[in-house]
Amino acid sequence: MRELLIATRNEGKMPEIRHALEGVPFKIIDINDVPALLGFEPHEHGATYEENATIKAREYGTKAHMLTLADDSGIEVEALQGKPGIGSARYALGTDADRNMKLLAVMKDVPHEKRGAQFVCAIAIYDPERDDVRTLEERVSGRVTQEPRGARPFGYDPIFLYDAAGKTGGEMTLEEKDKWSHRGRALEKAREILVADFT
Ligand code: IMP
Repeated sequence: MRELLIATRNEGKMPEIRHALEGVPFKIIDINDVPALLGFEPHEHGATYEENATIKAREYGTKAHMLTLADDSGIEVEALQGKPGIGSARYALGTDADRNMKLLAVMKDVPHEKRGAQFVCAIAIYDPERDDVRTLEERVSGRVTQEPRGARPFGYDPIFLYDAAGKTGGEMTLEEKDKWSHRGRALEKAREILVADFT
């Protein structure tokens, strides 16, 4: 079975990716289990999610010489003209909770009907045999809550209410997150590409 490297060190993303790719005809490899990648961190200097996902997939995949899937994500808030966007991971120093608190503080006077936001996920699949990258991007709509909700505290999930599901990401099980989220949808497409083009 061909190996597929998942190029993320994000502990929130990995379980979602594993769950969404369950049953694919690839052996899923965690970057933390590849000695050649120990301590390696590519510089994400892209101007778009797609560019950053491509940088991660290409750089990790080249170094490990493996078929590699990478994800780059962010939250775009309408009242902040799309910010924090591709700067989501660096929106505030510290932890996910610090970033959530900053966003809630910045939006404290924004009324419910103006709290619209989107979650974006770009995925890149790099194949070292063909030196080729395939990319795709998915978005989902929601709104920023007034306070954190839910027990699964990954990233902005506790303060993002998914419109279609009526729950925050923090209130969702892994199954629900894969069904409703930007990443779940992107991975559904990635799964089709992997099976059609790489098996
Ligand atoms: P990156 O794609 O690893 O650069 O992550 C961008 C930022 O968005 C980080 O602060 C993540 O914690 C956050 N993030 C990425 N995906 C999700 C998600 O599915 N839910 C909530 N936050 C996320």
